[in-house]
Amino acid sequence: MIKYNLICNCGKTFESWFSSSSEFDTLCKKKIVKCIYCNSSLVKKTVMAPSLASKSNKILKKTKLEKDIKKQLLDFRKYIEKNCKNVGDKFTQEARSIHYDKKTSQGIYGRATPEETSELLEEGIEVATVPWIDKSEN
Ligand SMILES: [Zn+2]
Repeated sequence: MIKYNLICNCGKTFESWFSSSSEFDTLCKKKIVKCIYCNSSLVKKTVMAPSLASKSNKILKKTKLEKDIKKQLLDFRKYIEKNCKNVGDKFTQEARSIHYDKKTSQGIYGRATPEETSELLEEGIEVATVPWIDKSEN
């Protein structure tokens, strides 16, 4: 048995069971499949339920993957916060002073624009851009 969601010319949708998809086609050609609301035979199949189900499965998988990635990034953020010094907006300045003055070997983190980041990289200063995950997000 196979269930189809049918739509009528009148705009109503309803479900109907058939033994196979070819049975539906045959009955439809003979105009035996009729709308339960207006008795019209101008009915056709709408999107089948199984295809909707597989689509939603894909969404679920993606969400789980996103959650895993978020968790890893959150762990990474915690690691950085624990081991590095937050210099906020002074990141570019501080990164240069570490590189040129070699005052400290402590890692730092902070904010920099993509332009500032690429400038630092051009100067041979090792920086990495990390997606900063908001802790309040789940
Ligand atoms: Zn109808």
